[in-house]
Amino acid sequence: MAGIYIHIPFCRQACHYCSFHFSVSQRHKEGFLASLLREIELRHDFFGKPKMPGGKFRLDSVYLGGGTPSILGIEELNSIFKRLSEYFNFDQGNEITLEANPDDLTYEKLGALRQTPINRLSIGIQSFHEADLKYMNRVHTPGQAVNAVENALKLGFENLTIDLIYGTPTMNDAQWKENLQRTIDFGIQHISAYALTVEPKTALDVFIRRGQARPVEEEQSARQFEIMVEMLAGHGYEHYEISNFALPGKFSRHNLSYWTGKPYLGLGPSAHSFRGSERSWNPPNTTKYIQSIQKGILPLETEQLTPAQRYDEYLMTSLRTMWGCNLDKVKEGWGEKKREELEKQTRRYIEQGLMFESDCHLILTEKGRLFADRIASDLFWV
Ligand code: SF4
Repeated sequence: MAGIYIHIPFCRQACHYCSFHFSVSQRHKEGFLASLLREIELRHDFFGKPKMPGGKFRLDSVYLGGGTPSILGIEELNSIFKRLSEYFNFDQGNEITLEANPDDLTYEKLGALRQTPINRLSIGIQSFHEADLKYMNRVHTPGQAVNAVENALKLGFENLTIDLIYGTPTMNDAQWKENLQRTIDFGIQHISAYALTVEPKTALDVFIRRGQARPVEEEQSARQFEIMVEMLAGHGYEHYEISNFALPGKFSRHNLSYWTGKPYLGLGPSAHSFRGSERSWNPPNTTKYIQSIQKGILPLETEQLTPAQRYDEYLMTSLRTMWGCNLDKVKEGWGEKKREELEKQTRRYIEQGLMFESDCHLILTEKGRLFADRIASDLFWV
């Protein structure tokens, strides 16, 4: 089974830390939507031809991300689902996620969203504290965050995930625990939590360099990561990927397809697609995207992954998950010699308590997860 990601490149306000592709002007919204509908048509056979003549390809998940997809009106969202349903099969049994900002999720809008195929909301809360939201220049208030969650639950959304950010200089450990406790008390099924990172050339990067914003401390992030792991484990959440926690059975099916090498189709500017050993992406430029699609030309850039690139990607993603890196899969994909080499290379991490081997899988310990990226890059092909 496969998934579709749709990138909606509009936001109401620019968060200071953000390096995604988006625009705060909505003047291209109409042109973008028309192009997106056309792109669905142009790329509908990305996963291959359906087995039955006239049949449709079955999707496991659809994920509307961005940007801020909740900026779209109900009719606009329905036009996307209508076009998708002309070529693909998906229903309430599949995972249909909308990323949403709390300020968009009024009671009325949530009620209308319940009438669409969307059955999972990913709410960008980030923090329930005002000082953090201001530091990050988030558009919503703590009150809107609470109302959005309460109303979504009241209206019967049974599958909610929320985004939280830790390591913000305005947030002490006690406040971080409060954020986590609130999330737990709401009974939220899935949590994605990221350390605040300062990407080059973002507004936050400039403000910190000019001394206009407090810098982000790695030590604080590491400490708050540990607090989170302990607290969420104590409340039954499974830490199934470094930044993701879920109550039993509530893993994100869409994200799992990224991490397990399943094919996915990315639509919209900056969206990436993957199948077999091919990766492709639309450039992160909404104007060019619209112009190109209007001429019937896909603005895609494509790359064939080498065995070394596929190996590195597999290591990087699998080590981030609680299932770890499957040694049999390494043997199957890259040969017995590579498997032996990997086992030899990882011995020191096992001795240091950063990794363990179980049932032919190399898995990072909680301590090891703090260094996941570094460990994976040490083990890379080259
Ligand atoms: S809402 Fe999301 S995509 Fe938009 S600016 Fe903020 S972080 Fe970036």
